[in-house]
Amino acid sequence: MSKVQCVRGTYDLYGEAKRKAKKVIATGSSIVEKYGFEEIETPIFEFTEVFSRNLGDTSDIVTKEMYCFEDRGGESLTLRPEGTAGVVRAFISEGMQQNLPVKMYYAGPMFRYERPQKGRQRQFTQFGVELLGVETPQADIEVIAMAYEFIESLGLGGTITVEINSLGDKASRDAYREKLVAYLKANYDRLSEDSKARLDKNPLRVLDSKEECDKAVIADAPLYQDSLNEASKSFFNQVLQGLDNLNIKYRVNNRLVRGLDYYSHTVFELTTDKLGAQGTVLAGGRYDGLVEQMGGGQVPGIGWACGVERLSMLLEADVSLPRPIAVIPVGDDAQAQALSIAYQLRKAGFRVEQAYGGNLKKRMIKANKVNACKAVILGSDELAAGNVTIKDLDSGEQQIVPLTGLIEGLK
Ligand code: ATP
Ligand code: MG
Repeated sequence: MSKVQCVRGTYDLYGEAKRKAKKVIATGSSIVEKYGFEEIETPIFEFTEVFSRNLGDTSDIVTKEMYCFEDRGGESLTLRPEGTAGVVRAFISEGMQQNLPVKMYYAGPMFRYERPQKGRQRQFTQFGVELLGVETPQADIEVIAMAYEFIESLGLGGTITVEINSLGDKASRDAYREKLVAYLKANYDRLSEDSKARLDKNPLRVLDSKEECDKAVIADAPLYQDSLNEASKSFFNQVLQGLDNLNIKYRVNNRLVRGLDYYSHTVFELTTDKLGAQGTVLAGGRYDGLVEQMGGGQVPGIGWACGVERLSMLLEADVSLPRPIAVIPVGDDAQAQALSIAYQLRKAGFRVEQAYGGNLKKRMIKANKVNACKAVILGSDELAAGNVTIKDLDSGEQQIVPLTGLIEGLK
C-alpha cells in the first residue's frame, strides 16, 4: 500500500451524490413497503457456490466478474455480485417456504470485477425486490407496476422506457434453443471466440453479447416469440394486458434476454438513453426454477434490481435538506447558553447549526454559508433580561422575543 486513494472502480460517496443515492433508496423503500415488501439484509459474502452454481457457469458474472477469496479457514467465499441468489439462499435456509407468498426487498453494495466506466463500477449499490411463491401473471404485473411507480416517484417517468419479453416455459426454451443452435452453427465463423465457446454450453447467452460481430449475427437470429407454446403465449399476453389496464407503457423487445441462467417467462428492463452504453437502470424477471435448483421446494419467484448510482445520476436537482437555524452567541457568557438553546431547539425538531468559535461577524458569515434561514442571536444584555433576537436572514428583519417563546417565534 503506497498511494492514498481508493481501489480502481470504487468511489467515496458523500455530499450531493450520497444525498441522491439515499433519496433513491428511501423512495424505493417507501414504495415497495406499500406493496407489502419487507426489508431483508443478507451477508455481503456467501459461499462461492451460492453464486457459481446458480447464476450460470457461462454468465459474465461467474466467468470473469466475481471477487472470490479463500478465508483463513480455507473456505471459498465470494463478495456478492447480485442480490437474488443470497435472498433465495436465505429463503431456503431460514425455512420461509412455510408462509407463502414471501415479499422481500434489499439495498446494499454489490461487487463485480468489471472495466470501470461511467455507470459501471466494481463496487456499486443495488436496490431490489423478490416475490416468492406466486406463479400467476398477477405477480409479474404487480412487480413491474411497482418498478414503474418507483421510477415515476423519482421524477424520471418521462425519460425511461419499459422493455419486456418472454422467454417462455422450459418446453418453449428448449424448442427455441434448438432453432438457435442450428442458426448459430450455420454462422459459426462470424461469431466471437466467447460466443463460439458458449454455443455448446449456453447458446442463449450469445443473444446477450455486446461484441459487434455477434450483434450482426444476432440481428437475423430466430425470434423467441416464434417458439413460445400456447401456455407461454397466454401467460405473456396476460402480463401485457395487465400492464395495459394500469396504463403502463412498454415496448415488447424480442431481443431482450437476461444475462443470468435462472430466468423464465417474463423478463424486463427499464432503460434510458441518457447514460450512454450503461442505459439499463433496472432489470428483472421471473425465476421459477431457481429455488428448486438451490435445494428448496418448487417455489416460483420474480424480482428486479436497480442500479442506485445510475438512477442517482439521472436525478437532476440536488436533494435539498431543510434550511437550518443558526444559533449565535455574542460574547463568552452567552456561549454556554447557546449550547443549551441549540440542544432544546434540536429536540423540538429544528435543524440547528452553531459556529464553533469567532465573533458575531464571522458567525454571521458562517450562518449564510450553511444557508441558514434564521439566526437566533444571543446578546448578553438581552439574555440577562430573558430575551433573544430572531433575525430573518432573507429579509433582514429582526425581532426580540422572550426566551420562553423562542420555539413559537421560530415556527
Ligand atoms: P449490464 O448489461 O449493464 O452489465 P447487468 O445485466 O450485468 O447490466 P444486472 O445484473 O441486471 O445488470 O443488475 C441490475 C442493475 O444493476 C443494472 O441494470 C444496472 O443498473 C446495475 N448495475 C449492474 N452492474 C453494475 C456496475 N458494474 N456498476 C453500476 N451499476 C451496475
Ligand atoms: Mg453486467
